[in-house]
Amino acid sequence: MSEQATALVCPDCGKPIEILKACGATSYFCNHCNELKSSQRVLEANASRKAVADKEQD
Ligand SMILES: [Zn+2]
Repeated sequence: MSEQATALVCPDCGKPIEILKACGATSYFCNHCNELKSSQRVLEANASRKAVADKEQD
């Protein structure tokens, strides 16, 4: 198990998402949903998730 510096999660299922870099573009693939996710959705979901985590101090 290797820990990533920036662990992003899937906007749909909340599982850790795989970051794929190809041809200068970054793609996000969720092994749980088994599909590619829009980078904008992934980043938005993780930004709001972090904000919530900061607020609720779980
Ligand atoms: Zn997913």
